[in-house]
Amino acid sequence: MTLIQAEQIMRDGPGHTRLPHATGYSHGAAFINGQFCGIDTAAIPITDVGFLHADAAYDVVSASAGQLFRLPDHLARFEQSCAAFRLRNPYNESETTAVLTRLLQLAGTREAYVWWCVTRGAMPDSGSERGDPSAYRNCFYAFVIPYLYIADDATRNRGLDLHVSERYIRIPEKAVDPTAKNFHWMDMKLSLFEARDRGADFSVLLDTEGNLTECPGANLFLVRDGQLYSPDSGCLAGITRATVLELAAELGLPAHLTRLPVAALHRADEAFLTSTAGGIMPVNSVDGRTLGSGGPGPLTTQLHNRYWQKRWAGWHGTPVDYSAASPSSETH
Ligand code: PLP
Repeated sequence: MTLIQAEQIMRDGPGHTRLPHATGYSHGAAFINGQFCGIDTAAIPITDVGFLHADAAYDVVSASAGQLFRLPDHLARFEQSCAAFRLRNPYNESETTAVLTRLLQLAGTREAYVWWCVTRGAMPDSGSERGDPSAYRNCFYAFVIPYLYIADDATRNRGLDLHVSERYIRIPEKAVDPTAKNFHWMDMKLSLFEARDRGADFSVLLDTEGNLTECPGANLFLVRDGQLYSPDSGCLAGITRATVLELAAELGLPAHLTRLPVAALHRADEAFLTSTAGGIMPVNSVDGRTLGSGGPGPLTTQLHNRYWQKRWAGWHGTPVDYSAASPSSETH
């Protein structure tokens, strides 16, 4: 079995291509302080502490073939992330969905990366109010751009080469809770630069005890003797990870969320990453050691193809109504 060339299908396939949109929205659409605008003109107020202090919660859902994937799960996780950081979304779930839908209509993207956040809001006038959550007015921002792939078709076909970071660990739960989706990315970004410096594609972060956690913007799975394993802590509860667990159950593959030492990854038969931005992404090697016979493993390939086929058949999908308003009627 070979991998479905998902990126190519999403670019050229019938039912996937981009719908008409105003020129101001060719790179995407944004929603800033209650106003819709083209993404090229979107700007965040500089005193928003979301920007100054990474004081925010966010989430990302994808659309393919004009259907949002697992939108209710992303909305629920977003509310949990806000609660963990004592943030309040000024919009309820149906208002949030209406904003995201309008952005998809404006951008005309049936293949889309749909991002939204709530920040703490502007710095209070007096420094003494900084410690009072009620002194802030939490702000909502969102944008939609054409779908982003962490690993494109060519990279998925050969499999990612991973580097386990030697310099960085994933931020511990008692510092910034990684199960709440947050703006703290410096550990992940610097480990990614380290991986690229070593000639690898992507990094893996361990916890303080040397157990696997996750990768920059993605969960990690390994396959050993026909069973799936993924870390149970120190990482985001990824919606794609949950999807893989459902697919594994359908295929009768035992799957475990558990504590995993780094050695388990080095001796895995197969491994893959999961993320909204790319789905299921096969691994070729870890720290220079090829897994199995290299390239996408057979179970990874099966899960990858099933993931896209089921999504395109409407599984967990919320269809987007693109007809609601003419994009050119929006002012910006
Ligand atoms: N881990 C982190 C740190 C992430 O930021 C993400 C997604 O961006 C993931 C894992 C994967 O989560 P999901 O499958 O919900 O996109």
